[in-house]
Amino acid sequence: MSQSFDRKGNILKEPARDIKIIKEADLVVVGGGPAGVAAAVAAARNGVDTVLLERYGHLGGMATGGLVILIPHMSAGTEVMEIQGTCLEMIDRLDLLGAALHPQKEHLGFSDKTVIEKYKRFFDFTVQGKVRMSVSYDPEMLKCVMNDMIEEAGVNLYLHSWGARAVTEGDAVRGVIFESKSGRQAILGKLTIDATGDGDLIESAGAEFDGALDPNLRSSNLALVFRVGNIDADAFNDFKEKQEFKWNVLREELIQLGGYPTCLPSNRSDIRWFNNWIPKRHPLNVEDLTWVEVNVRKNMLITYDFFKKNVPGFQNSFIIDTASQLGTRGSRRLIGEHILTHDELRSGKIHDDTIAVIPPLKHNVSEEWPNGFIPYRSLVPIKMNDFLVAGRSFSSDAVTNDLLNLIPFCVAMGQAAGTAAAIALDGGMVPRKVDHKILQKKLLEQGAYLPS
Ligand SMILES: Cc1cc2nc3c(=O)[nH]c(=O)nc-3n(C[C@H](O)[C@H](O)[C@H](O)COP(=O)(O)OP(=O)(O)OC[C@H]3O[C@@H](n4cnc5c(N)ncnc54)[C@H](O)[C@@H]3O)c2cc1C
Repeated sequence: MSQSFDRKGNILKEPARDIKIIKEADLVVVGGGPAGVAAAVAAARNGVDTVLLERYGHLGGMATGGLVILIPHMSAGTEVMEIQGTCLEMIDRLDLLGAALHPQKEHLGFSDKTVIEKYKRFFDFTVQGKVRMSVSYDPEMLKCVMNDMIEEAGVNLYLHSWGARAVTEGDAVRGVIFESKSGRQAILGKLTIDATGDGDLIESAGAEFDGALDPNLRSSNLALVFRVGNIDADAFNDFKEKQEFKWNVLREELIQLGGYPTCLPSNRSDIRWFNNWIPKRHPLNVEDLTWVEVNVRKNMLITYDFFKKNVPGFQNSFIIDTASQLGTRGSRRLIGEHILTHDELRSGKIHDDTIAVIPPLKHNVSEEWPNGFIPYRSLVPIKMNDFLVAGRSFSSDAVTNDLLNLIPFCVAMGQAAGTAAAIALDGGMVPRKVDHKILQKKLLEQGAYLPS
């Protein structure tokens, strides 16, 4: 029998209902993007019975469905790669499939003119005249790589499963209630990791967060990336290099028409991805999300038409696809045991509990531009137990979040969160009690790079 809903003004009172617990595990990771996949794999490899829930039908989040197809800033002008571990493993696996393009590892730090010449057409393969590690890749292949890693690690994967709220018990989080085609169900866990990027569980978990988006920062903009293929790369590159002035005039003209001139190289010379920055639309407002989906496509057509008519190399091109997943750069930020600040990042403050090393983004590493460091405490909520946050909603000020929400750093945070969860579960302790020296030792054993 159907139940009636009580209505008071514009509020409906949903009748209480029973929720079936379909699974109990040690760890529930919600969100299968770069951070969530890394967290689930790390935990499962450390012997933890792990469930990973993802709202869409594939893994990878922005790095696949969002068509963000560049893993940048893994090193900064020396032969040292600051981002290794799970992120490097993903790239090695992509290499085996012929699906990644990056500088040769033995070229890192080189400043030789012929080598620089070779790499400078690619986005972020060089920094201040030296070779650095950045990777362009095929997003479909990354979905497959992530599936393999999840399966091989023995993670229980639930796709098409939208985490609706955290299950709480006193001051602890005990899993998630989620919606899927099977209805509203629960999966319980002794420990839960929010890797949804938007921090979707933080509020219902009872943890604290900062939801303010600074309109002056890149991360306050939404995006709908699209790819264009069958480009004559030689004609396009030649035009850009030899007729820079005309290219810039055309870019301005396109902006005035409402189009998007930023088209970045991919792992194939005949495919480019068009990035865009849509201001004044909020990632947690469904009407704004709808507006972006509809209106960016209109401007995509303007862009495509303009390129085809005016830009050499695009005459026989076609639109391959638009991102199946709307591009969200910033959202809720956890209030954690430590809020990483821009001053700390910029000054190169090494935290006792460092779990990731961040090379400078636009400079070679030097005394003036030192590496930055992310502490484990930025993944641990100040309130609530048995709960961690990994990925772009880590605890940081707005500027730091804007700089560090990149894929390689989110993977590193995920690997650390999953490993910390394994230590906590094994020792029967809450995550904030995890001994950072043990965590760092395990991360090093798993191939991560940390300060010596
Ligand atoms: C247009 C654009 C361009 C960018 N350019 C770059 C770039 O060039 N290089 C770079 O490194 N970074 C770039 N970034 C940033 C980077 O892509 C993201 O910050 C990064 O992917 C964050 O990883 P994550 O795992 O924290 O979150 P996400 O990638 O957002 O993954 C979160 C996952 O959780 C899932 N999820 C969300 N909510 C729920 C829920 N309630 N229940 C279940 N599952 C859920 C999502 O479907 C997704 O799979 C860009 C971002 C955008 C939007």
